[in-house]
Amino acid sequence: MVDKVVLITGSARGIGAATAQLFARQGYAVCINYKTNAEAAERVATAIHSQGGRCISVPADVSREQDVMRLFSTMDRELGTLSVLVNNAGILRTQCRLEGLSEERINTVLINNVTSCFLCSREAVKRMSTKNGGAGGTIVNVSSIAAKYGSPNEYLDYAASKGAMDSFTKGLSLEVADEGIRVNGVRPGHVYTDIHADGGEPGRVDRLSGKIPLKRGGRPEEIAEAIYWLASEKSSFATGTVIDVAGGL
Ligand code: NAP
Repeated sequence: MVDKVVLITGSARGIGAATAQLFARQGYAVCINYKTNAEAAERVATAIHSQGGRCISVPADVSREQDVMRLFSTMDRELGTLSVLVNNAGILRTQCRLEGLSEERINTVLINNVTSCFLCSREAVKRMSTKNGGAGGTIVNVSSIAAKYGSPNEYLDYAASKGAMDSFTKGLSLEVADEGIRVNGVRPGHVYTDIHADGGEPGRVDRLSGKIPLKRGGRPEEIAEAIYWLASEKSSFATGTVIDVAGGL
């Protein structure tokens, strides 16, 4: 059997790591990607190998074009034809108001969350599009519920980057709809991962859990299930859609 191949950006930790393990359990060969945390990537790879799965792990900063080109050529060479791209890598910075945002910070958030998604999707479409001789595929963009609420007093830059991602999901889905490629997104709510510590508040999910209609934060595995569904044939009539997985928010 020829394995299907999935690339999940930012899959050493959090939602990406849970997604990598779910795809591996479903028989996909997984390209794990990370920026700097090789140890975390190794843990994900070991977990996949211990269950008999197939994966490689590639360090690449997906906000940089040269790194993206190297990531995709490594994946082509070592795993074969890409079937699914999950644009999951994302960052946020310390909570603050607009007055605290510098040019450097705004641009860093935008290139990590938005430029990365454009660059990886471009390389995926080159490979997947039936117009380019490809066999089709699916792309899933990991946005955020912040795109709907705007994250006032916390991170307007981050929320706006996720809004841009949602527009990109719609536009690209229409651009490639008759080329065998479906493009969808997931907007997670508050999920227990390391990202909140980067915002300066490791306990943020617990602080906000009382405001979530389901009265609890989410687990990375719960987001992975929605990503997997959108990537799979089970969602074959869905494109250009973004699903909220946010406990009712
Ligand atoms: P996380 O635990 O902080 O993990 C982020 C992962 O992305 C890490 O593996 C990191 O690599 C990687 N990464 C970051 N920038 C990268 C880059 N430029 N190139 C390659 N890899 C990069 O984050 P998470 O909470 O799982 O978030 C995953 C996605 O879900 C993000 O897009 C985030 O915005 C979104 N999301 C999260 C939540 C939440 O509550 N957690 C809610 C809504 C949306 P290293 O390990 O090497 O640092």
